[in-house]
Amino acid sequence: MKSVKVSEIAKEIGIATGPLLATLKDLGVEVSGATSAVDEGTAELVKEIVSQDESRRIEVGQSISVRELADAMHASPADVQKRLVEMGILASVNQQIAPDIATKVAEKFGYRVQVAKKDRREAPAKPPVAAKPKPKRAGKTIARPPVVTILGHVDHGKTTLLDRIRRTNVTAGEFGGITQHIGAYQVDVDGRKITFLDTPGHAAFTAMRARGAGVTDIAVLVVAADDAVMPQTVEAIDHARAANVPIIAAINKIDKADANVERTKQQLMEHGLVPEEWGGDTIMVELSAKEGRNIEELLEMILLVADMQELSAPASAKDVEGTIVEAKLDRGKGPVATVLVQKGTLRVGTPVVAGTAYGKIKAMLDENGERLFKAGPATPVEILGLSRPPLAGDVLVSVKDDRQARQIAEERSHEQRAERMATESRLTLEDLYRKMQEGEVKELNIVLKSDVQGSAEAVRQSLERIEHEEVRVKIIHSAVGNVSESDILLAAASNAVVIGFNVKVDSRAADMAEAEHVEVRTYNVIYELINDVRAAMGGLLEPIYEEVPLGKAEIRATFRVPKVGLVAGCYVTEGKVTRTSEVRIRRGNDVIFEGKVDTLKHLKEDVKEMAAGFECGIAVEGFQDYQVGDVIEAFTRRRVARAV
Ligand code: GDP
Repeated sequence: MKSVKVSEIAKEIGIATGPLLATLKDLGVEVSGATSAVDEGTAELVKEIVSQDESRRIEVGQSISVRELADAMHASPADVQKRLVEMGILASVNQQIAPDIATKVAEKFGYRVQVAKKDRREAPAKPPVAAKPKPKRAGKTIARPPVVTILGHVDHGKTTLLDRIRRTNVTAGEFGGITQHIGAYQVDVDGRKITFLDTPGHAAFTAMRARGAGVTDIAVLVVAADDAVMPQTVEAIDHARAANVPIIAAINKIDKADANVERTKQQLMEHGLVPEEWGGDTIMVELSAKEGRNIEELLEMILLVADMQELSAPASAKDVEGTIVEAKLDRGKGPVATVLVQKGTLRVGTPVVAGTAYGKIKAMLDENGERLFKAGPATPVEILGLSRPPLAGDVLVSVKDDRQARQIAEERSHEQRAERMATESRLTLEDLYRKMQEGEVKELNIVLKSDVQGSAEAVRQSLERIEHEEVRVKIIHSAVGNVSESDILLAAASNAVVIGFNVKVDSRAADMAEAEHVEVRTYNVIYELINDVRAAMGGLLEPIYEEVPLGKAEIRATFRVPKVGLVAGCYVTEGKVTRTSEVRIRRGNDVIFEGKVDTLKHLKEDVKEMAAGFECGIAVEGFQDYQVGDVIEAFTRRRVARAV
């Protein structure tokens, strides 16, 4: 392949070699200087990046100060001054320079100057001394492709449908058809694109939402015509509804002898999805993912629904925003993440932050392994260059420079740690009243799980009958069975409380509820359940506390300490005693006192806690009557967010 010198590229597009070298470095190409050569393909790529880059255009009025020009180019004022000196101009940082000079300097930095019309820029009374933030341009919006997630019951054909759509698509074949899984892919339908998220099922869908990322525009609900509506079909409908995402029903497996399309439609209707031919507004496509029948029709329907939503997004290279679809640590490539761009155009070289990860985008690849150097709204791309793999659902944003990227990421790490230490941030029945008062909640979302259909109905009706002027009870999902992980996810994503009636909470669901701060309450008596919800609305729900035992200490002596008074000399026999513990003093089997630790000393020092096997001095608030042989039980109280 032909190679081209960096200096030649610079000459061709009329800029200095510096920015070219920087861009090449961003692309991961090793170059030592202007005489280094790169292959023709790379040369084309840099040319396009540098010359098309909107962000490298600077608007200048009648004049611009050295500092403003430097800021606009993310360069230091000293560097700009140096260039000016080379041109024989000695200028102070706040000195105004004329547009033609600014143009020449900017060229050296790989920027282009656009001279604004006179009336567009008010002459500043005084040249600005401090760097001011550049005004954000609104930027024009462009129509963007829809983002689609496939939902449905297990084995109804979600994966087969996703594979079929990908294979049917011609553009995927252009590159030899070797596709890799990056978590999402795009197909082309008569020149229009559709983005599919590659992880089917409502668990992934809702997990993303629980992290705050609502990326899906349309849900395709796959229902096998031989099996009709099954429990996860209903869950999927509720999850899509809770997310406010339109549903297209894909009635699959119509090739099978026992397929019964009418029955399937009938059952979908019972769950509120009424086909158009029966007067409803749910688009239903009968297809066979296995045989590839009616796939094109489904794609057309997706575009039709997308048109009704009028999806658009700003496309400028500035202020890029996206969501991480998946991420991993690759042995060869380091941290790789798939990002679905939502706003703006992501480019190689852009400094970004995603969750607590940061970095400059080193390279971008599409699902065919092709290198891209820009990705617009609704485009999924695999990106390299982050400091660590972010989490699915993390939001990615572009920032000014590497330094800011690192700073934001670090701040976020701190915040996350702090958040983890803080207690519940999601809605609980206990704080419902406060949030109602503050106008934060208007609806109490409930995920209801019950033992049998009959009781589910009874509970639902009683709950929905609760009338309150400020808040309405809304059951976003009701089903028979134990509280599952999927229920917790849905509750987390929808700020709902999970209520179980005569059911248990699966242990993994309980762990997840704890981690996600979702409140789960279980009841065996409808009356109590309704009462609690009512009490919560009136702000009268008593918090529940449970005792968490910490340890035990035995009193072996008593002595007097100046300023403290009588202190029990103890030996910690089990666990630990802390200075903030509550204590119960037992003499034999009798509890003779309950109170709080006042002072905890080891030798002469005040200590925070003492572990088993150590001696310590304990003074209990409001108690003096220690006797050798008494046992001090230490415990704390934890507020119970859920009754499992
Ligand atoms: P998922 O669990 O929803 O992802 O379902 P899969 O895509 O794994 O499909 C489950 C089974 O149904 C597989 O054996 C598929 O081959 C089969 N299947 C999927 N679509 C069709 C179809 O349109 N017709 C028939 N006959 N079988 C299908």
